Amino acid sequence: MRPQFRMGHSILFSIHSLKDAFPIAPKFEWVPGHTDDDTSFEDLPLINQLNVEADQLATKELQNYSSYFPMVPFDPISKVQLHINGVTVTRRYATTLRTHCTLPKLKAYYEERFHWSKHIFDTIDWDTFSTVFTKSKGKRNFLTKFCVNHLPTGKRLHDRTKTENNLCPTCLTETETDDHLLQCRHPSRARWRSNFIQAIHTRLEDFLCPVLLDILRKGIHHYLHASPVPDPATYGNQYAHLVLQQNAIGWDHFFRGKWSTEWKYIQKQYLARTGLTATRSQEQWTTSLLRLIWDKLHNLWCQRNTSRHGHDSRSARDISLDRCKRIITTLYQLKGKVQPQDAHVFYETLEDHLEQDIDNLRQWISVNQPLITFSSRSATRASTLNTHVLSKYFVVPPTVLSGPKKKKQPLPPPPPPATHRSTFITEHLAVLPSRSHARSQRIPIWRPPPSRPRQRCLHDFFPDHPG
Ligand SMILES: [Zn+2]
Repeated sequence: MRPQFRMGHSILFSIHSLKDAFPIAPKFEWVPGHTDDDTSFEDLPLINQLNVEADQLATKELQNYSSYFPMVPFDPISKVQLHINGVTVTRRYATTLRTHCTLPKLKAYYEERFHWSKHIFDTIDWDTFSTVFTKSKGKRNFLTKFCVNHLPTGKRLHDRTKTENNLCPTCLTETETDDHLLQCRHPSRARWRSNFIQAIHTRLEDFLCPVLLDILRKGIHHYLHASPVPDPATYGNQYAHLVLQQNAIGWDHFFRGKWSTEWKYIQKQYLARTGLTATRSQEQWTTSLLRLIWDKLHNLWCQRNTSRHGHDSRSARDISLDRCKRIITTLYQLKGKVQPQDAHVFYETLEDHLEQDIDNLRQWISVNQPLITFSSRSATRASTLNTHVLSKYFVVPPTVLSGPKKKKQPLPPPPPPATHRSTFITEHLAVLPSRSHARSQRIPIWRPPPSRPRQRCLHDFFPDHPG
């Protein structure tokens, strides 16, 4: 045995290290757990029966007589122990570490996406959610998207690609959203809803608290049929608290596995109060009910996919042909907007093109769709490349702070309009100033330069004697 960070590893390692201390060497044998889930207890081998009984006794001890010790005493043989926030981690180390690291971001994401207040996340029974989700093999891809309202419905596909049909494939009238999947008014969906509610009622009516059953029925009806939300004032204090919590979480999220922790707690109290005995499956009614709901919803999604994509090769081909024609019709709207050198990919008319068989249409789309969209985009870009905003063509004067306005001098009256103008150039020259007068205007009047003190030299003070 080699040390591993597995559940109960420290206990197993301690037992293994003590095996030499036994007078008779013990034999170790692994027995699978929960074998009574699929086979009746009487048909199991003895060693499996003993394992089942030991499991039941341990569960009973844990539920009825256990005390909470956040810090487990350290066993030196195990050599290492993991604590997070003052609590010893004794099992599921990898999951616990992953959860601890990612939970704050997940909480922030849920609060933002579903508009939840800070405390709502902590009122949800995540144990039930994770138990059922983990065991829903083959449906996790659907559930992952369904639980965060992100299924590839008609609306979502149409928002991504405009050529995708956004209509509900069943009623063909309304835009298909995540909620429309369950709220569609088509008779076939109405029948599905009726059977769905009946299956839930049949599963729960024998043992579930009648008040819980009533709240559940009203909540489901509220979401599926847009009836009023359950009113907490019509229930006692304990149940009102549950109704308030589930209303805050949202009844649409009830179908997405986000249930208040009060459901499980109130039912447990009801069983203790009435003294009714419940089977193991009835004790774990939340997980069993959520599994039923998700199985039904997954079946509904598969039916919806069949309606959208066809139930056999012929219907699938017809639906695919419609889709091809829709895409080509949309691409022909860009016929006048592509670059001139790319216009040759289009047929003379759209009608001529749509008469081609489906293989040709598919091939044309796969080859030309990217070209056409790129060409129309580049043509639009090229058409606006040298176009500037109007302000580029005008010089905007700088802003001047306005002071007190000066009074404007009135302009002289304009001269009377000339009725006759001479064509002799000499008459026009006569009004120009004379050449001499013009020169006198241009040439400045000469003035003597200002007198400067002459530089004196020694000779000035001592002139040469003539003799
Ligand atoms: Zn519909």
